[in-house]
Amino acid sequence: MSANAVPFDGHAIAPETAAFLGKTHKLLIGGEWVEGSGEMASIDPATGIELTRVQTGGAAEVDRAVAAARRAFDGPWTRMTVAERTALMHRLARIMEQNALLLTQLDILDNGMPAFIAGLTTSNCVEMIDYYAGAIMRIEGTTTAPPRHIAAETEALTYTLREPVGVVGQIVPWNVPLSTAILKLAPALAAGCTVVIKPSEETPLSVLALGQMVLDAGFPAGVVNIVNGLGGDAGAAIAAHPGIDKVSFTGSTATGRKIVSAALGNLKKVSLELGGKSPVMIMPDADLSLAVPGVAMATFFLQGQNCMAGTRIFAHADVHDQLVAGLKGFAESMKLGHGLDPATMQGPMISGAHTAKVMGYIGSAEAGGATLVTGGEKLDRPGNFIRPTIYTDCRPDMALVKEEIFGPVMAVMKVETTDLDELAAMANDTPYGLSGSVWTKDLSTAHRLVKRIRSGHVSINCHGAVGTNIPFGGYGQSGWGREFGKEGLDGYLETKAVTARL
Ligand code: NAD
Repeated sequence: MSANAVPFDGHAIAPETAAFLGKTHKLLIGGEWVEGSGEMASIDPATGIELTRVQTGGAAEVDRAVAAARRAFDGPWTRMTVAERTALMHRLARIMEQNALLLTQLDILDNGMPAFIAGLTTSNCVEMIDYYAGAIMRIEGTTTAPPRHIAAETEALTYTLREPVGVVGQIVPWNVPLSTAILKLAPALAAGCTVVIKPSEETPLSVLALGQMVLDAGFPAGVVNIVNGLGGDAGAAIAAHPGIDKVSFTGSTATGRKIVSAALGNLKKVSLELGGKSPVMIMPDADLSLAVPGVAMATFFLQGQNCMAGTRIFAHADVHDQLVAGLKGFAESMKLGHGLDPATMQGPMISGAHTAKVMGYIGSAEAGGATLVTGGEKLDRPGNFIRPTIYTDCRPDMALVKEEIFGPVMAVMKVETTDLDELAAMANDTPYGLSGSVWTKDLSTAHRLVKRIRSGHVSINCHGAVGTNIPFGGYGQSGWGREFGKEGLDGYLETKAVTARL
């Protein structure tokens, strides 16, 4: 923190963060910051303090943004050489690096996440821009044999081109605001698409700050447009817009269904990163020195507001009690507080409404027969803090076990079996399939169980081990398509097959 740090509710923020909060924020359309049709407050969920005012848009602003994105797509953006596009993306990454503290503090303030997570996600975002900048030169088609009826008559050549999908709408959630935006924006720009992005109305600040960095990097007007707004207004307008070629959505499974129906009009392509209820499988030989902190953070990372959260813990009876005792100790040692405090391990829930929803699950758990081990209460202080909560004696039919709570609530089930098919049946007893983990010293057992788990991402002796180059996405109702890595880029590319008589 610089010497001229600015006080914020007992903490300190950087002068650039204070300056950002001092302004009212507009919409980025066609390379300019323009007035929206509404305005809302951005609130710090740890204190309830209004951080700043942010303008919002609806269908009219989305229309203008799509027109700007189309002009950029038909004009300067797709005429740029790949070397120029690569250089622009690397320039953006360097600007983000120089402004890392601003981006990190905006996510802490707007979302409530602890500093250790926000710092990590900002540096991952920079890495992701560089990664996809580097991938541009490697976008390649193939050659293949020409069709028989042409080859029989004449020499011919058949090859494929990879081309950008076009104008893309990107709708992102509030739980990791900058990161969920960048992991859509970076591959889209690398592929040569132009973008209309809608941050969550709960957490627009870091994406708006990013918008200025896109302008400062020198991207042509209209390549990146940002329309902050409510889901039912700006979000629904993006999903339904006939001028958008693809919509990429991250959010709840319920909203994902609405996106799919809205996209039917022009049959735009849809990719979905949705909810989860991920299993954590603890075998009798699990190394508990790894499993205790690993399983605790599988649930409590990001206050449990994490799509990959491992919240269904299947613990073998041989280690169940020892594991639960360790988890209880870990949960009770977690410091709850403002994300700006470097000692904070768990921040607030995003809003009062979401807190009430999570507390509703907590209220019904004991009535359903679960045993409270620790937590189960909201802190009596400003902000939306819920203690890390652990239940044992859970059953698969409980709402606690079946539904995505998106809060710091862990459901532990004691299992007697080591039969891998039986364990897999328990793990797969969910409509979701996003993440999961297996904890054992026997790697043969681990790989055999991983093969049986229906999920897009499974970790062994760790949980949620995602990375820039590692494809991520869901089986079942956890989504369509993959983000990150090469598959993330493929999602923004069409394949054109060309045959030429020679
Ligand atoms: P949400 O579905 O309420 O909102 C997500 C986004 O959709 C927001 O920008 C919102 O404004 C917008 N939206 C809401 N209604 C809309 C509509 N009718 N049409 C178009 N857009 C609309 O989700 P959330 O509460 O912001 O995020 C939490 C959810 O996101 C959880 O279910 C979580 O699992 C999921 N998530 C998934 C991943 C993943 O990679 N699979 C990552 C993060 C979060």
